[in-house]
Amino acid sequence: MAAFESGNGELGELRRLLSESQRIVAFTGAGISTESGIPDFRSPGGIWSRIKPITFQEFMASEEARLEDWRRRFEMNRVYGDARPNIAHLALAHLVAEGRSPGVVTQNIDGLHVRGGLAPERLVELHGNATRAHCLACRRHYELDAIEDRIAAEGRAPRCEDCGGFIKSAIVSFGEQMPEDEMRRAFELAEECDLMLVLGSSLQVQPAASVPLVAKRAGARLVILNREATPLDEVSELALQGEIGATLAGVFPQLIGEHH
Ligand code: NAD
Repeated sequence: MAAFESGNGELGELRRLLSESQRIVAFTGAGISTESGIPDFRSPGGIWSRIKPITFQEFMASEEARLEDWRRRFEMNRVYGDARPNIAHLALAHLVAEGRSPGVVTQNIDGLHVRGGLAPERLVELHGNATRAHCLACRRHYELDAIEDRIAAEGRAPRCEDCGGFIKSAIVSFGEQMPEDEMRRAFELAEECDLMLVLGSSLQVQPAASVPLVAKRAGARLVILNREATPLDEVSELALQGEIGATLAGVFPQLIGEHH
């Protein structure tokens, strides 16, 4: 492991590791989107310092929790919609487009990777996607706008028109089962990569945080970019503490100023 303060030495090391690698897989957390104006969970001012998450069990048990969950979803979706992908999202899309990365695994639900140019089939969303909704029983898809209109008109949490099950936004809430397909695809990418680039994850949420460990055990190098230390810095090739955007701007200067 090597940990550095920001400076040319560490950037040179990051450039070298990226250029030596043929199959780069990024694993991203909320920290990749803070520079797009979306708060993360654990930083000062982050979501957890203001509101307690509604668990899956609370959603299932109470109408009040369901309505509150929807209210927060609509509010956050407006924040996601107004946000723009930043240089880190663009850099990962660029690596995939260049054929140097088979895909990106994300814990995020904000949709910024795809809006940053990443092909949707190259993205594994471990915690779902806030721009979609589905019935928890039969998985029928629903449009969020239509749900918002229904709640405004009826004043209660919507039920599936086919089977009567609860409709919920397609994110994985605390206490909800992880999606099997996405977990499988994430571990496949972890096993096939030669470098795993962890961007903006506190690596404290399981089982998602085990993805970089699987990559490491399968022989990949680990590079971690984060504002603060993470539990896997010790086993990484390079753990670089600093702002993701400023760091990647030094590696991908051609992407500065580009946006979608
Ligand atoms: P987290 O909030 O636990 O950790 C984010 C990490 O990124 C922190 O260690 C923080 O210090 C670091 N960070 C923040 N901004 C940074 C920057 N500009 N440069 C470098 N480092 C920065 O997030 P997590 O590990 O992704 O886990 C929280 C869960 O919350 C996720 O699973 C996700 O589903 C959900 N979430 C998603 C979003 C989103 O979609 N944008 C936002 C908040 C939470």
